[in-house]
Amino acid sequence: MSRRTKIVATLGPATDRPGVLQGLIESGVNVFRLNFSHGRSQDHLLRARQIRELSDASNTSVAILADLQGPKIRIQGFKNNSIVLKAGDLFCLDTALGEQSGDQTGVGVDYKELVEQCSAGDTLLLDDGRIRLQVVSIEETRVHCKVLFGGTLSNKKGINKLGGGLSAPALTDKDYKDMRTAAKLGADYVAVSFPSTADDINQARNAMVAEHSQARIVAKIERAEAVSDKALLDEIILASDAVMVARGDLGVEIGDPQLIGVQKYLIKRARQLNRCVITATQMMETMINNPMPTRAEVFDVANAVLDGTDAVMLSAETAAGQYPLEAVRAMSETCIGAEKEPSTRRSSYRLERNFQRIDEAIAMSTIYAANHLEGVAAVICLTESGSTPLWMSRLSTGLPIFAFSKQTATRRRVALYRGVYSIPFDAAAFPVDSVNDEAMNELKKRGLINEGDCVILTKGSITGALGGTDSMKILRA
Ligand code: PGA
Ligand code: MN
Repeated sequence: MSRRTKIVATLGPATDRPGVLQGLIESGVNVFRLNFSHGRSQDHLLRARQIRELSDASNTSVAILADLQGPKIRIQGFKNNSIVLKAGDLFCLDTALGEQSGDQTGVGVDYKELVEQCSAGDTLLLDDGRIRLQVVSIEETRVHCKVLFGGTLSNKKGINKLGGGLSAPALTDKDYKDMRTAAKLGADYVAVSFPSTADDINQARNAMVAEHSQARIVAKIERAEAVSDKALLDEIILASDAVMVARGDLGVEIGDPQLIGVQKYLIKRARQLNRCVITATQMMETMINNPMPTRAEVFDVANAVLDGTDAVMLSAETAAGQYPLEAVRAMSETCIGAEKEPSTRRSSYRLERNFQRIDEAIAMSTIYAANHLEGVAAVICLTESGSTPLWMSRLSTGLPIFAFSKQTATRRRVALYRGVYSIPFDAAAFPVDSVNDEAMNELKKRGLINEGDCVILTKGSITGALGGTDSMKILRA
């Protein structure tokens, strides 16, 4: 049985080791994430080229996701690189301190607005929440704090405020420069970090279009503000093509107990609004140093699958861990295990909704027919842009959705969609009356369907036209 949930793997030093990238492709990674918070442009360009070479050589379509750093607010450095804070210590964050001037009494922060956006009583979280400070008072450039939870604090760790409210503009000068690199390396997706409005997403899209890129935009949902207002969240989701449940920063800002419900809501809402969704961060964290996940991690991944996510993501597990291939295999097996649960194949079919578009109506009807007619083995959609398989995969089914397309960009893009598998196919190369048979033959040749299976095929009456899907046919192979 093939896995429906897709796997996003982050590249880094660990995946630069010989053979690892090839191994990741063979283990079934669907989307490679280039993390622009680390590495230089030339590293990303080189990795992207290697991905394309290796995936072309093995005839697989994988997507490249360029993840922008965004305005992550960080402390500066320490004279001795790190300090140890104990509960009860006084510690000062000072926007006037230099880059390497931190010591036991305080450290610099490269964000002048910190003093305006904090007030006495606020809780600040450093290093993904591992260290917790309470603001005691503000004085000129200094935020005086008391340590609530201590630990080792080293250079350049991130700062979040509990409940949100530290909000620099989402796209930095570095992000604009990195978007040029992303366009150059042919990224299929660009992820915007810390967006707080739909406009942040639109600006990224415009910047990519200006670079002649068709990259789809992913909104990383990682600010408390973005999830505290449902209407605002809808606007951000609708402005984007996919969202990421960015549990690292979001979990720190709203607290893990709140995150449980937020993850479920985000996944459900993204699917309802016809958008894709990636669940990210610390999914198999202990596999950075261990060849096997904990049961809790297995269940966390499985839970995201049951919630309906399109993809689950590996971060440091693949980028910097000792067991990148084992992590992908463990994740893959977990997804397949979770997909055995019958609820993942049941849909409520949007019975209460009206459709505005013919192609959307065809997509919805197809999954209804596929799930209810006995003997259906597969759905084929002849697609230009991939929008029909996107709609289809917003409903739940256990049947494979094959996106047949001659467009390379489309085949790569659909690599993110749950339950969608791409096949290179140029419908215009065949006489009109034999296209259906040729498509079915393609699946038979690959051993994906058998003689006599029922297949549902969708297509447009004008092949090659965008958004033209207007028919659905039930065929016997
Ligand atoms: P990051 O984003 O890894 O770039 O911080 C994901 C997250 O915050 O979960
Ligand atoms: Mn983040």
